[in-house]
Amino acid sequence: MSNKAKRIAIFRFCAPAASKLLSNSKQQLYLCPICGRGYSEESAITGKELTLEDVPPRNMGGRGLLLTCKECNSKAGYKIDYHIKSQLDLQDLAGIFMGQSGGGKSSGTMLINDERFPITVQRKDGCTEIKLIKKANDPTKVNNLKDFMTALSVNGGGDGLEFNINKTVKLDYRLLKIAFLKSGFLLVTAMLGYRYAFDKRLLIVREQISNPEKDLLGTCFWIEQGKAQPFPKRRIISVSDPLPLFLVTYDNGAVILPNPLSPTDIYAIIRKKWEKEQSINFTGKIYEWPEKALMILDSHN
Ligand SMILES: [Zn+2]
Repeated sequence: MSNKAKRIAIFRFCAPAASKLLSNSKQQLYLCPICGRGYSEESAITGKELTLEDVPPRNMGGRGLLLTCKECNSKAGYKIDYHIKSQLDLQDLAGIFMGQSGGGKSSGTMLINDERFPITVQRKDGCTEIKLIKKANDPTKVNNLKDFMTALSVNGGGDGLEFNINKTVKLDYRLLKIAFLKSGFLLVTAMLGYRYAFDKRLLIVREQISNPEKDLLGTCFWIEQGKAQPFPKRRIISVSDPLPLFLVTYDNGAVILPNPLSPTDIYAIIRKKWEKEQSINFTGKIYEWPEKALMILDSHN
């Protein structure tokens, strides 16, 4: 299915739910789940104002689950989703050197005697292969590198010879967590629909996603793997105990989101809990991440 066909399909699936929500609306509109603004089908057809949102971001294996307005999509992409990519880049590079990566490729800079050589690295046949990026390297310096590498192999393991590999990425951990909050919010919205997204409990979440530069929630919504009992990865957990909430789990942690039964000040309660307790045990039902928009709460009412 083309992106255009996907946008139209999502529009047509969600717009009736939006009409129900805006009971006085005669026009079919799609509401951007983040900012709540309404858009006509024309916006989905042209893709100028409504864009397919990969949830979670594509580099985490996400798919176009929902539409968000161009402003929300590009603002978030630039300010927050970017940090997921940075973290994955670092993990890939580390994984390749630890022999964990399954065919992944990464890049960095090799530092030898204060000279810098841009390189790509990948895992190949059980070895770590380092390649110079031809276009990015000064050919006159490459000869020095050849000499160094020859010395390294002649030395049999290179006793006393050292090189470093560096990678510089822009990574802000608070913004990274907000990127996960946004993905989690959109995953649960795809599952439950507009009635969930526009519940008053979610107002603070949507504000935080729209304004990542403002620190509205701190990081109390984030649970590092290890701070709670081990949880299944990439799931939505509908928690009933110690209090009703959703956990959206990722590979290294999870985000806490309100659910329709949560107290309105759920984050204040969670913050107090973290102050008092080292870890929290959660009990609840586990769901797969949705593979398409389901809008369960909207269509059943
Ligand atoms: Zn929007």
